[in-house]
Amino acid sequence: MNAPCSKAPTLKAPRCECGYRAADADDLFIHLAEMLLPDGDTDHNGIAHAEVARADSDSPLACLCGTTANTLTELDAHLRATLTPASEIGPDGARHALADPGAD
Ligand SMILES: [Zn+2]
Ligand SMILES: [Zn+2]
Repeated sequence: MNAPCSKAPTLKAPRCECGYRAADADDLFIHLAEMLLPDGDTDHNGIAHAEVARADSDSPLACLCGTTANTLTELDAHLRATLTPASEIGPDGARHALADPGAD
């Protein structure tokens, strides 16, 4: 198995359908979250989703809706899945999604 010590240079930087060029996958993830997640942390059913502050470092990660997660990545995935509009159209009216890398 290859274990490259740096990111493969051949991998194109991900791009959002709105035209935003991300530096890497994490940058695109942050962009999508910023553009698509509603301000109120409330999903389409009126249920609030946000990370519950932990009383101490041993407390499990949890969402306001009652969902628990083992890792921050897992909790982020839950928040994104529940709060991202199915249309992927943000409040600015633009569609934000990973653009086809071959579309250039
Ligand atoms: Zn939740
Ligand atoms: Zn975008």
